[in-house]
Amino acid sequence: MRYLVLSDIHANLPALEAVLQDAPPFDRIWCIGDVIGYGPDPSECVELLREYDHDCIAGNHDWATLGRLDSDDFNPDARRALDWTRAHLDDAGRAYLEQLPTSLTFEDFTLVHGSPRQPVWEYILYAGVAASNFEYFNTPYCFVGHTHAPAIFEEMRENGFVSAVTFLPMYDDPIELPASRLIINPGSVGQPRDSDPRSSYLILDTDARTLLYRRVNIRSKRPNSACISSACRCAWPRASPTAGNSSHFRGNRRLSHNVS
Ligand code: ZN
Repeated sequence: MRYLVLSDIHANLPALEAVLQDAPPFDRIWCIGDVIGYGPDPSECVELLREYDHDCIAGNHDWATLGRLDSDDFNPDARRALDWTRAHLDDAGRAYLEQLPTSLTFEDFTLVHGSPRQPVWEYILYAGVAASNFEYFNTPYCFVGHTHAPAIFEEMRENGFVSAVTFLPMYDDPIELPASRLIINPGSVGQPRDSDPRSSYLILDTDARTLLYRRVNIRSKRPNSACISSACRCAWPRASPTAGNSSHFRGNRRLSHNVS
């Protein structure tokens, strides 16, 4: 099976369309949460996702839109975007968000938005946080989103002590899944925060046991007018710390080089 693994669409329809057009053939989509929030197309993104065979879990913006998280816990930009989304999301979109689970497990893979320890809220930006999360899932591999920064964290065990190493993925070059355990972040479709404005996603091939990371330009014919005219404009892409800035980062090498 080939899975298109994507996360944090954030109601950015041109970005989702660009990813779907760019993606190599796939059998199913795994969506790691935050379909809505920030962007101007929440209902349209839900609708397009539902045209595909897919599994999806809830992110913090999905939950906050439903009132399951206190919007006071969000920064002012995100809060304004939440208010706007609540007012504009249609009934079908709302019903879709209401049935999303917070985690899913399929054979070797766990899916959570934030972290295995706190599926909706915790950010795994650094190796230390990743290391402390390996005990909270039972599969070899776990997909997360939430940080909007593509990264792979590999579990290291030495003398009973668990640590993690952070890798920034290479693009367009398959990465072999190692025997060691991984936390894998595909990056964000709709709002990348790793100083690269292109949408990020990956293809998981469970037969070949590989991950293929890709980036694609968002080709919008619309100059973000809908967003500019809405309260969400101030929350559009901007840089934030990436996993690669972690002091635990040990190089931009292919993960497969580390595998016996
Ligand atoms: Zn997000």
